[in-house]
Amino acid sequence: MEMFESDGGRKTFFAEVLLPVPVPRLFTYRIPLNLNDKTRIGQRAIVQFGDRKIVTGLIFNIHEQAPKDFEAKYILELLDDFPAVNELQLKLFQWIADYYMCTLGEVMNAALPAGLKLSSESMVQIHPAFSLEETTHHFSEKEVMLLQRLAAGTMTYTEISKFLGVKFIFSILKSLSSKEAIILFEEVKEKFKPKTEKRIRLSAAFNNSKSLEEMFQSLASKPRQEAVLLRYLQDVPVLHDSHANKNGISRKSLLEGDISESSVNTLIRNGILEEFETVVPRFGFENSREANNIKLSDEQQRAHQEIIKSFDSQTTTLLHGVTGSGKTEIYISLIRKALESDTQVLYLLPEIALTTQIVQRLKKIFGASMGVYHSRFSDNERVEVWNGILSGKFKFVVGVRSSIFLPFDNLGLIIIDEEHDASYKQQEPAPRYHARDVAMILAKLHHAKVLLGSATPSVETYFQAKQNKYALVKIEKRFGEANLPEILLADTARKRKMKTLKGEFSRALLLHIEGALSRKEQVIIFQNRRGYSPMMSCEDCGWVPKCVNCAVSLTYHQYRHSLVCHYCGYREAVPHQCPVCTSTRVKTVGYGTEKLEEELNVFFPDAQIQRMDLDTTRSKNGYDSILGKFENGETDILVGTQMVTKGLDFDRVSLVGVFNADRMMHFPDFRSHERAYQLITQVSGRAGRRDRKGQVVIQTSNPSHPVLNFILQNDFETFFETEIADRRKHDYPPFTRLIEITVKHTDKKICQEASRHLGSSLREQLSRVKVLGPGEPMISKIRNLYLMSILLKMVRGKSDLIQVKGNIQNNIDALLKEQSFRNVRIIVDVDPV
Ligand code: ADP
Ligand code: ZN
Ligand code: ZN
Repeated sequence: MEMFESDGGRKTFFAEVLLPVPVPRLFTYRIPLNLNDKTRIGQRAIVQFGDRKIVTGLIFNIHEQAPKDFEAKYILELLDDFPAVNELQLKLFQWIADYYMCTLGEVMNAALPAGLKLSSESMVQIHPAFSLEETTHHFSEKEVMLLQRLAAGTMTYTEISKFLGVKFIFSILKSLSSKEAIILFEEVKEKFKPKTEKRIRLSAAFNNSKSLEEMFQSLASKPRQEAVLLRYLQDVPVLHDSHANKNGISRKSLLEGDISESSVNTLIRNGILEEFETVVPRFGFENSREANNIKLSDEQQRAHQEIIKSFDSQTTTLLHGVTGSGKTEIYISLIRKALESDTQVLYLLPEIALTTQIVQRLKKIFGASMGVYHSRFSDNERVEVWNGILSGKFKFVVGVRSSIFLPFDNLGLIIIDEEHDASYKQQEPAPRYHARDVAMILAKLHHAKVLLGSATPSVETYFQAKQNKYALVKIEKRFGEANLPEILLADTARKRKMKTLKGEFSRALLLHIEGALSRKEQVIIFQNRRGYSPMMSCEDCGWVPKCVNCAVSLTYHQYRHSLVCHYCGYREAVPHQCPVCTSTRVKTVGYGTEKLEEELNVFFPDAQIQRMDLDTTRSKNGYDSILGKFENGETDILVGTQMVTKGLDFDRVSLVGVFNADRMMHFPDFRSHERAYQLITQVSGRAGRRDRKGQVVIQTSNPSHPVLNFILQNDFETFFETEIADRRKHDYPPFTRLIEITVKHTDKKICQEASRHLGSSLREQLSRVKVLGPGEPMISKIRNLYLMSILLKMVRGKSDLIQVKGNIQNNIDALLKEQSFRNVRIIVDVDPV
């Protein structure tokens, strides 16, 4: 290695920088001498990429070796004084890139909230809580100039550079941002809007005991105003602590109890109280005053002890507890314990199970030390959580899939609730990671413990538990007096013959709904298809309207009165006649949630019916408002897709209807039985919590199907044995590992040829790997791209995964080098679900 001695006798260092671009390598930049002492691995650095672009990169490595064949550009600026990303994260990023066969840049893109990736496209805005009058001598002339200009409106990075006549403006921006005078954000539409709160305090003149006393005397004849002040003094001890007055009390909490609002306003008018507005942190939950008063039941206590004991010898424990067994209370107790021993805790939940319900329950207990990381949150909110972990404010995070990327440095416990849930797997774009599996690696890096929880564990996880790779703890009873619901099957095939079906509703389901409504109980109806009906069809010739971009039939949506493609969003008008035979009898076929809602309204005109699916929950608060109405009893019947199956806990639900179980079980995928078991059991679990025994009606044309029987008997064990035997027989996970390669191209022939090429070269080179295909996937064209897929099966332990993956990558690279396949897109999905 050649050593560089600089003029001043100081060494020249180089940094390997990770940039958020899909290029499979790091980029070398030179560290300016004046930053030598400040540069650390994990810091964000501003660098020039290409001719004009300026981007944020992550310092991955520091060394003294100059690149041989090019002149390294300088790092322009460091964005952090301390690393924003720690070395454990960098290791995790590397693991994800290797395991899921994607680039580090793609991982970085998924990991960092946009607000942490300042670039030449970034926008700058004055901080809403900042006032220009605050510009004292701490601000340079240029800074003041810029702030005055920004007061008139948002500017882009480039505009500022021009305005100030300075090429690199990062040090100015950084300085202003550290003084909380400006906010930087990505080119996203939303601006940062801090949450504000109205607060009330004593006017400064009365903030001493003498004038307070005098004032009370003057109010002697005004008891209501006096009451306000007494209440204030009770909550804000200004007499003992004159600083307490500065923060005052929120208007809302002052008005609690029987305090008169008009008296408060009078006091403000008379200058005794004053009102002011402050910015409150989004997650600044007031620290909880109430302690958790829940006591674990004996059954929960036993499970809790078993889990703690299992952690002595095992890293990972599976808690298999039936729905309603009170797993959450056990988690809470474990989280406390981990926090008490001063480690961080991550509690992972699937996207739609992370509801306001659970967040409020947790925040009552963990207060201000808890951060929430949700994809419905804006980028600013995500940055707040990220920084809150760095600063030590958040010791505990409850979050979705992507919270595995947060900058933890001392995790003690990771809880993965509903571990079986497929939404832990990211489908698009890369990295196509499985958060449960990555969380296990994360735990290993931190020497943390992992608790997997589910009422319906995945076959893979249960297998590991049976093999003693994970400890297994069970709860087979619901909490308290609650029993598991009673399940009955309604045979729709037989009823269709006997013509006792009303539409697609069995008499049994309708009668049960009627019964529940008459007892003022609530009902959930589950149907896993949104829209009005999944397709239309000509009754005379069988023609079906299809998407012009994808190989799927169009779904009819009544509220838009149009046909919509669920894969690409394409929309067209409903045809008045069949384009093939000109018949006018083009009718809807099948039931989506919209049609169910409509028919239920006809059967039960007095009931309040709400629909919960992707279409009704698109708006930011759509989801919470539907659940809110259901929770406070405004809604009698909730009709919905998968969304109604997860984690909801409502007292008054006594009936769950599964409208059509058949499609779930017959879906052509090796996991379809497992999925059906999980979905139906989970949705049934919404029925009859607390002291009511619930009922479940499952409509099916195949009532003797073994999966339904396992569900009926609540026999997970036999269900698992059957599944695992099947998996073993057909070489599916957990006995093999799968990699799915999808080849895409706008030209069907090129797509087929490329996939055949790739298939045969893989077959040649990977002798121990079973190469299946290429074949057309179930949907063979999406968004005008034809698809072909190849499935690789590797017997566990028989082939070297790293080698196989390297080999696959080489084959793909070679294919893409061929002239005719240059524009082919290839997607690799490791452990597809
Ligand atoms: P699971 O997640 O296992 O399906 P939950 O944690 O949602 O079950 O608990 C089911 C219900 O029982 C919830 O309403 C919860 O508040 C209640 N519950 C559970 N354990 C206790 C306890 N120890 N004391 C009081 N209520 C409990
Ligand atoms: Zn026709
Ligand atoms: Zn389409």
